[in-house]
Amino acid sequence: MGFCSIASPEVDVLIAGAGPAGSAAAALLARSGWRVLAVDRAAFPREKACSEYMSPEAVRVLDRLGVVPALERAGAVALAGTTVTAARGSRLDGRFAEAHPAPGRPTGLSVPRRVLDATLVDAARAAGARVLERVTVEELLYDAGAVSGAVVRDACGDRHSIRARLTIGADGLRSVVARRLGPRRHGRPRRVAFVAHVAGVPGLSDLAEMHVGAEGYVGLNPLGDDVANVALVVRADAARAARGRADAFFHEWLARFPGVRGRVDPGRTVRGVLATGPFAARSGRIIADGALLVGDAADFFDPFTGEGICSALIGAELIAMHAAPALGRPGIVPRRALAGYRAARRRRFAGKWAVERLLGYAMAWPALFDRAVARLGARPAMAHTLIGVTGDFVPARAVLNPLFLARMVL
Ligand SMILES: Cc1cc2nc3c(=O)[nH]c(=O)nc-3n(C[C@H](O)[C@H](O)[C@H](O)COP(=O)(O)OP(=O)(O)OC[C@H]3O[C@@H](n4cnc5c(N)ncnc54)[C@H](O)[C@@H]3O)c2cc1C
Repeated sequence: MGFCSIASPEVDVLIAGAGPAGSAAAALLARSGWRVLAVDRAAFPREKACSEYMSPEAVRVLDRLGVVPALERAGAVALAGTTVTAARGSRLDGRFAEAHPAPGRPTGLSVPRRVLDATLVDAARAAGARVLERVTVEELLYDAGAVSGAVVRDACGDRHSIRARLTIGADGLRSVVARRLGPRRHGRPRRVAFVAHVAGVPGLSDLAEMHVGAEGYVGLNPLGDDVANVALVVRADAARAARGRADAFFHEWLARFPGVRGRVDPGRTVRGVLATGPFAARSGRIIADGALLVGDAADFFDPFTGEGICSALIGAELIAMHAAPALGRPGIVPRRALAGYRAARRRRFAGKWAVERLLGYAMAWPALFDRAVARLGARPAMAHTLIGVTGDFVPARAVLNPLFLARMVL
């Protein structure tokens, strides 16, 4: 749909980016009757470097958005959990359905982003939001110091000013909106990912696989039709050797992981390697007068435990719950009216962020990591708990307590 279909460049809510965060926010806000315009520089369906794994909690929000039947018709695969294999061979199996508390549904879903994101865009449109593709947010507009919309560039290269009472930055890891609102902190570990779709990977089950080595990790995730998502994540300095030869680098590195070696046939590549990174980035300022951030634009650490799609979808729910009421008053939404959104994000995500960092740093010590995986492998209830925490449906305190942490390593 082209830019010219906009009747009036004035809306209640302008959303930069129509990935999971932007489309979900657009759908939920439009359902409440607000005039919502989401713009994305891409045209859907589009690819995105991602392991395409979602926990039951992400599926809960997808269900609320009404897209699960469409995803299932498109071939979404039910996932029972994750198995993690450490560098020295120890292994744990974490099953969603066996965690306490149990998730609302027993399985997660594995869906190609080409399908998921286009389906969410359709859902936003069906809810009454306008979604414009090939339209890029270039700059923010200001009115007496408050964000009052954005300058966008359409596919013909023409610029337009769109006025909005609330501007949402859902434009991902390299968010323009986030950079305009304040400093972005780029943390460690600095890692880069290479992701492909490959047919005929033997030995896949209903558990997604994570193979952790001393220098990175590999995820294998069944996508249905005998195709697997294969994701390699390595340190950014090691990834320099991939310049100009990403496919060869990808397969050389896969062979370094004993549980993956010989299983991924380059000749059966269905979608070639997409590279992305480094990831770990956090925005210092996620609310401002007239604007807020959601999804990767606000925070993303690492794909290992990231569940970034889930965080993006929950972030959209938190906007609908804690920021949208402020649209009931006329004029630009002031920062103070968005403080509840920021506080709700902290309450919802702070524990999960701590667990992510704990695991992210533990991977840098292979012996310690191997020991922890062995301990959890021998205590299945703990493994299910950990998968529940990383899957966002078990509270993080179930892991972040001295007893659990001690039993992981002793
Ligand atoms: C290697 C890797 C593997 C991952 N695996 C998983 C996984 O298995 N499960 C999971 O839950 N998460 C995973 N993630 C994380 C997940 O991909 C992200 O957290 C998720 O996509 C965030 O959604 P979002 O809507 O915030 O951003 P995005 O999905 O990045 O969407 C942002 C949108 O904004 C658009 N955009 C960007 N700039 C502009 C602009 N200036 N103007 C207009 N539009 C713009 C883009 O085109 C894009 O469509 C992984 C991430 C990586 C890097």
